[in-house]
Amino acid sequence: MIEERIKSGIVDMMERAAFRVPDDVLNALKRAAEEESGVAKSNLMAILKNLDEAGRLRLPICQDTGTPTFFVELGEDFPIRAGIYNLITEAVREATRKVPLRPNSVNPWTYENPGDNTGRFVPVIHVDIVPGDRMRVTYLAKGGGSENVSQLFMLPPVAGLKGIKQAVVNAAYNAGTQPCPPVIIGVGVGGSADIAMKLAKKATLRPLNERNPDENLRKIEEELKEKINSMGIGPMGLGGKTFALAVHIEWAHKHPASLPVGVSMLCWAARKSIADFLPNGEFRIVVP
Ligand code: SF4
Repeated sequence: MIEERIKSGIVDMMERAAFRVPDDVLNALKRAAEEESGVAKSNLMAILKNLDEAGRLRLPICQDTGTPTFFVELGEDFPIRAGIYNLITEAVREATRKVPLRPNSVNPWTYENPGDNTGRFVPVIHVDIVPGDRMRVTYLAKGGGSENVSQLFMLPPVAGLKGIKQAVVNAAYNAGTQPCPPVIIGVGVGGSADIAMKLAKKATLRPLNERNPDENLRKIEEELKEKINSMGIGPMGLGGKTFALAVHIEWAHKHPASLPVGVSMLCWAARKSIADFLPNGEFRIVVP
């Protein structure tokens, strides 16, 4: 049955992501370890050893198994439409039991925990309807520590590019040790307050070996990465050259009177997976 195939595909994605980081992140961590020395190098070596052991023993790479977050590109001719929300939620319940994953979803008023990583608006599911008969699902296990340092700046438009850059550098400075660096920094420029934050989170998902197609933005990304790393915060905030593995920018048109800048960070435990689902429910893992 197509529903069962989709559900088991999503459980598979969540299971894969729990035990490892994708190759682009792993390679960036290895490169950083080669370039660092002293405490910074030791921290990165400990992260790499942890990843190695987690993969070997099939144990989650971090005790915080994250908030299950999904970006879904749903083909307009894909056979499942509104039902996708229930299927994903059921898959999260099953993955929480099977992997197992720490149940991280609590009621903000009572702190009651349903125990299965679901609840009101959890899992977080973003759906975009796209042409075609397939569905692409991107899964992100978003750690609480890195989510806590998300920032939204509603700049006056006169702040311009200088203000945008300063906002991103400030966000990194304020984050310090909290997001478990090295991090991937996503920046969302323009749109509305909510769109800027959504774009910032989406920007963290761009593979590290995929360059921004816009040359000007690519230069800004590089400049920001260099500036942020030159502050010396380093891996785990204990000093060094590697706070940001990358800075990625997404943007949207905006109101002339506003200049929203969203900043989102993805910790070294960048647990993500991507899969394409065919109209019969079969799936192909794209990442990892
Ligand atoms: S921020 Fe990331 S690495 Fe740090 S505790 Fe949370 S999930 Fe783990």
